[in-house]
Amino acid sequence: MEETFSDRLERVEHRIQAACEKAGRARDSVTLLAVSKTKPPEAVRAAVDCGLRLFGENKVQEAQSKIPMSPGGLEWHLIGHLQSNKAKVAANLFQMIHSVDSLKLLQTLESHANQTLPVLLQVNIAGEAAKYGFKPEEVAGAIEAANQMSKCEVHGLMLIPPFAPDPEKTRVHFSSLRKLRDQLQDETGTPLPELSMGMSHDLEVAIEEGSTWIRIGTDLFGKRG
Ligand SMILES: *Cc1c(COP(=O)(O)O)cnc(C)c1O
Repeated sequence: MEETFSDRLERVEHRIQAACEKAGRARDSVTLLAVSKTKPPEAVRAAVDCGLRLFGENKVQEAQSKIPMSPGGLEWHLIGHLQSNKAKVAANLFQMIHSVDSLKLLQTLESHANQTLPVLLQVNIAGEAAKYGFKPEEVAGAIEAANQMSKCEVHGLMLIPPFAPDPEKTRVHFSSLRKLRDQLQDETGTPLPELSMGMSHDLEVAIEEGSTWIRIGTDLFGKRG
């Protein structure tokens, strides 16, 4: 028998609960974002039938065509790099943008958003040369800038760590992001409750290190083509 979405969700949910228990955290302190990138609207529908309503996409164009073909009443979050020329569409298509990676992008989103736009600031915590994201020392300035804005609201930080097959190798990056968040809250007086970190293979470690949004694609929808 082929595995159903429900089977996969049950397994992921089990892992989330076990990790929360181990970390002494309440299950409802972690939100599951179902990453539906590359998957068709039928896959979204199967997820909705199992009770999910929060979806992550990494490309504006793909989301633009998928959202109208998907059930209504869902939340769509952008998790991929956003080019400035697509910021106008993105600001009014997504309910949250996890991947704000420059001050210029933040300003562009502010100028185009028609309503309040919750955002997370993506931090290049490991200092990788080819990765998008703020340098840790740039984040406070972006938060101060956002505090003067009327649409964009910074709710926290986001991380795409360097890939490591062993999730224990990623722990240091997750904990660095959490420490940076704690420090920025003190420094700026801005509440930063959200930490978007953890994917299919490392969600347990991310939860142990304080993640509030895990972004799960493969282990919910199956391998991408
Ligand atoms: C694709 C993607 C994910 C999901 O990754 P999986 O390993 O398939 O769970 C999470 N976050 C971002 C930014 C992604 O691009």
